Amino acid sequence: MKIRKSHPSNTMNIDREDFRLPKRVFVYDSTLRDGEQTPGVALSVKEKVIIAKQLEKLGVDIVEAGFPANSKGEMDAVSRISRELTNSKVSGLSRVLKKDIDACIDCDVDIVHTFVSTSDVHLKYQMKKSQDEIYSMAVDAVEYVKEHGLPCLFSAMDATRTEMGYLLKVLKGTEEAGADIINVPDTVGFMIPTSMRTFMGRIRDEINVVLDVHCHNDYGLAVANTLAAVEAGADEIQVTINGIGERAGNAALEPIVVALLTIYGVEVNIEPKYLTETSQLVERYTGVALSPCTPMVGRHAFAHESGIHVHALIGKASTFEPIEPEDVGQKRRFVLGKLTGKHSIKAALDELGITDVSEESVLEITGRVKELAERNKLVSDVDLISIAEDVIQTKMFHPYVTLKELVVTTGLNIPPSATVKVMINGEEKVGQGTGVGPVDAAANAIEEIVGPIAHLRLRKFDLSALTGGTDALGAVTIAVEDKQKNVFEAGAVHEDIVVASVNAFVQALNKAMYAADQAK
Ligand code: MN
Repeated sequence: MKIRKSHPSNTMNIDREDFRLPKRVFVYDSTLRDGEQTPGVALSVKEKVIIAKQLEKLGVDIVEAGFPANSKGEMDAVSRISRELTNSKVSGLSRVLKKDIDACIDCDVDIVHTFVSTSDVHLKYQMKKSQDEIYSMAVDAVEYVKEHGLPCLFSAMDATRTEMGYLLKVLKGTEEAGADIINVPDTVGFMIPTSMRTFMGRIRDEINVVLDVHCHNDYGLAVANTLAAVEAGADEIQVTINGIGERAGNAALEPIVVALLTIYGVEVNIEPKYLTETSQLVERYTGVALSPCTPMVGRHAFAHESGIHVHALIGKASTFEPIEPEDVGQKRRFVLGKLTGKHSIKAALDELGITDVSEESVLEITGRVKELAERNKLVSDVDLISIAEDVIQTKMFHPYVTLKELVVTTGLNIPPSATVKVMINGEEKVGQGTGVGPVDAAANAIEEIVGPIAHLRLRKFDLSALTGGTDALGAVTIAVEDKQKNVFEAGAVHEDIVVASVNAFVQALNKAMYAADQAK
């Protein structure tokens, strides 16, 4: 079972009766050809081989390795990939020209993919040829491939904008010439799913060999149109990893494959558990970053923030997930934010190894996470750990010192000075200090009050921005040392780095005082 059986209620309102679903769909991956035509993407031969091997591991039936006639580099890549792959078939692209087909044959490909435009607009402005001339070129090219004993895939470029009568003539002509696979490209991505079903249905009525579809995502419909073509009986799909490709890209392999397996119940050779790693590999090599909301493989595809959702999910995952994340190589994640509830906090703390937290502490941590999220949107693990430690420690022992007020003055030509108001032993005290910087000044002001109790030396001070931008959260970690050389670490997070630093200092001070108390 490639995807664990999804919940029966998933498909209860999906009507498959009038579909002409094939039993099995072949996956033709064009990441290395159309995908490489993504603006700004250029892969080295070595990178292409690595991606091709990953596609083979994923279970792709046919890997389109490139366009050999295009350049020496392409020749190299296609030849190398042809040699390296054993399970997946390797295809090379060619125009309906003998020299292009010869280049494919020289690369020792398993399949030659030859294409020519058929739409009026392409014939008139791009090819500058008549319908009859194009027809002959297409048929001749297929015959030429077949004479060399190779399987042939024929594509009628811009098929979805070609008048049906002429399109069928070309498709049937190439089928009769021996084409093994007939491809229908929606070259400018102008189709809509309902029309695609009718359109492909008309072609399916006439074509007996494998019927293939190639959709572009100009209107965000590439995945939907590809599935509509399968509903009409297409038994091969041309896709790319992460949907990369020319302009707005191609149909993405990942959601289509999972939809075929779970919604349609159609077999594919793909191993969905490798989808996420394949997606990440292609993201890394192409430099085309994925939106976190990318279906199935995006960072947020199985991430939950809402407290209501998380509560239900912990009880039964199918309440708010269509499939198990592990089935596509993903992980369920509970994201902490302003909608977070105590169940997410408990789950997140467990995951971080912070267990044995009282119900009361969990509630307080939840409140503080929400408060932080209101200001900053996303709460990181570091934030959660520091909040949790703070809450748990406060619960463990009553703080000796609590910061009530902090005023810091600093500038170019005046020495930094600080005034602090703290609660110590139930009494409010005010201290003042100056220093080399605002944090030093504040620390000196606190020391003025607590000085006799704890002589602390700052041993370490680290500041890092947790988020980008000038309003980023600053995370401060410090270590202080007392007279007995005991070191105490503490950390705090705040968008004001001085406040974060002073909070961390007060926390460390409390730890030191607690330790001194215990030693008595
Ligand atoms: Mn394309």
